[in-house]
Amino acid sequence: EPKITDDFKTILEWAQKVKQLGIRANADTPEGARLAREFGGQGIGLCRTERMFNGSDRIGLFVDMIMAENIEERKKVLTKLGELQKSDFIEILKAMEGYAVTIRLLDPPLHEFLPNPEELNQKIHKLEQKNEIAELEKAKILLKRAKELAEINPMMGHRGVRVGITYPEIYEMQIRAVFEAAAELAKNKVDAHPQIMIPQISSIAELNHIKKIYDNIKKEMESKYNMKLKINFGTMIEVVRAALTANELASTAEFFSFGTNDLTQGTFSFSREDVEGKFLPEYMDKEILERNPFQSIDVNGVGSLMKIGISAGRNIKPDMEIGICGEHGGDPNSIKFCHNANLSYVSASPHRIPIAIIAAAQAAIEQPKKGNEARKPVKKSARKPVKKSARKPVKK
Ligand code: PEP
Ligand code: MG
Repeated sequence: EPKITDDFKTILEWAQKVKQLGIRANADTPEGARLAREFGGQGIGLCRTERMFNGSDRIGLFVDMIMAENIEERKKVLTKLGELQKSDFIEILKAMEGYAVTIRLLDPPLHEFLPNPEELNQKIHKLEQKNEIAELEKAKILLKRAKELAEINPMMGHRGVRVGITYPEIYEMQIRAVFEAAAELAKNKVDAHPQIMIPQISSIAELNHIKKIYDNIKKEMESKYNMKLKINFGTMIEVVRAALTANELASTAEFFSFGTNDLTQGTFSFSREDVEGKFLPEYMDKEILERNPFQSIDVNGVGSLMKIGISAGRNIKPDMEIGICGEHGGDPNSIKFCHNANLSYVSASPHRIPIAIIAAAQAAIEQPKKGNEARKPVKKSARKPVKKSARKPVKK
């Protein structure tokens, strides 16, 4: 854990004044949000909702949802999950009061939540030996479903928005939970700024499909609570085709966020799952690649796609908020690239936030940007060290 001494705090405060990029956190718990704030993070750029289903009180329900025999049964389970999601969102939004929280809808393939077929086969074998008929039947049904959902390359298959389209009731539950949380917080005068973000988008047809669901729920919720609920709707740009068709996506999306983990995988055809394996580290030793592209933005590949996406987005919406939430958001070289490419913010894991603030300040000193409020050069007078009492992160 980075230890923040008083001297380092002072440097961070200077850096906060000088930097022009926003610094947000990748966090999906209230603790993560609080830690991010302590380190100077101003908002959550990526709240991955899938981890919320892995808690011991959730995973059973989530499996029931996957195993449901019909839509009515699935919706019943989803209602219970929706209540839990609502409270997840309330807590995280409270912890980030005053700042944007980008909530990304479910991304992984559904089979990831089921036991794997090999484990199930072993379990079935044991249950057969013990002759435990009821348990055996359950395990067999689970195995059948796990096999149905299995894919050879699931990371390039039935995941992200593709799940949202084939099982719309899951995204409906999540979108409704965000609106419910926003309404409850508004009633209690909590200054919450949730945003909804869709993963794995590759076409405007997919984005518009989900936007319709969002619009219907927004209407329903605004009439239920008799208030306007402003929740921005945006997309990840993490599929190569999304970057290439960003002009179309920008007509529907209110914001973009680059998912450079998947974008790097797609651009190089390197598997992100195998980064730590044998091949890529060995290949790096051959000195064909200058840098590990999963650590630092490859400016001629992912970097070019980002530039295409940024210019297309801002061409349609000049003030469009565009960020990055892949691991690169915490890497100093990549942060410099993001500053120069005019991104609105980078989002990094809470522990990387101090480094991100300093890297963003260095980039701004090297190449100050003119532009909108968020990227306006800082006045000289503002660069003086601040008094201790002024050290709390300033709200928007
Ligand atoms: C990404 O792909 O860069 C991203 C942030 O999403 P995830 O890592 O959850 O796939
Ligand atoms: Mg991704």
